[in-house]
Amino acid sequence: MIIVLQKDATEKQLQDIVKRVKSCGLEPHVIVGVARTVIGLVGDKQGLDPRVFESMPGVEKAVPIMAPYKLASRDAKAEDTVILVGNAVIGGEKPAYMAGPCAVESREQIMETAYAVKEAGASILRGGAFKPRTSPYSFQGLGEKGLQYLAEAGEAVGLPTVSEVVNPSDVDLVSQYVDILQIGARNMQNFALLRRVGQTRMPVLLKRGLSATIEEWLMAAEYIMSEGNYQVILCERGIRTFETATRNTLDVSAIALVRQLSHLPVVADPSHATGRRDLVVPAGCAAVAAGAQGLLVEVHPNPDAALSDGAQSLTPQQFRQMVRAVRLIAESIAPESADHWWNKNAV
Ligand code: PEP
Ligand code: MN
Repeated sequence: MIIVLQKDATEKQLQDIVKRVKSCGLEPHVIVGVARTVIGLVGDKQGLDPRVFESMPGVEKAVPIMAPYKLASRDAKAEDTVILVGNAVIGGEKPAYMAGPCAVESREQIMETAYAVKEAGASILRGGAFKPRTSPYSFQGLGEKGLQYLAEAGEAVGLPTVSEVVNPSDVDLVSQYVDILQIGARNMQNFALLRRVGQTRMPVLLKRGLSATIEEWLMAAEYIMSEGNYQVILCERGIRTFETATRNTLDVSAIALVRQLSHLPVVADPSHATGRRDLVVPAGCAAVAAGAQGLLVEVHPNPDAALSDGAQSLTPQQFRQMVRAVRLIAESIAPESADHWWNKNAV
């Protein structure tokens, strides 16, 4: 259930409602939007009559949310969530570009990449330090050293950073170095990890699981939000299908659908979705045309020598071309913005 406050509700009225929610054994989540403030109620609400709240001063209405994800739902917050990280805007009108190598391999490699992607238009620098590899014998990342190099490179070029955290016990460590915590596809349903990043107040980039349904993906976001961290960025990175010609299958329609279902920013990762350098640009263009508000792209100064995911890594030059193409697409659909096709009330 959500309680929608009247536009002129006072702080005192808000606090009284919060108190009443708690006395019903529920947890209140106050979501302040531009147009209105709502309180999301989390917990077992069986048998709870909305009139308990509707009779209170300051309340406009109390409405049940049908979707199992409550805080992530568009019904809880009509307007898009916009996440600000340094100078980067994720969920705004222009796409955000998060670019960098799959893995930080050395200080020189991440420095060189950082300068190149910044120059090409990236707003966030990516680089893995803890790599969840399919094989235990593959390069596992540089760990803390990698995070240090990433932070140093981000600072040198003035870009915020994103890197994956794999273990709940590493969340504090990774948080010291990066601006956005990434939850990888393989960990999308690692509930202990989701809760742990939910306890931070860091933006979280939540990749869709390899075989996760859209509902499971949004429920994973809900785990993070239920701990009070509302800064979640959803990332479609391709799912497993019968097709083996590409590494995964980019679920383009999921991007448009999730824009309808949730207020959270949605970005796409065409690198892991395709696994092939030659398909990264078209897949990225398609994602933005479908409503993705940003792209996560693997870029390496020398992809053929990369220690991981070289086959899907773009050169800085290719990345620059991609940004140019994607900007044109984003601009060409922008005039529609208010009535976009992911706004189901507009269709
Ligand atoms: C990555 O971004 O480097 C990564 C491992 O991605 P995913 O979790 O989507 O496979
Ligand atoms: Mn990778």
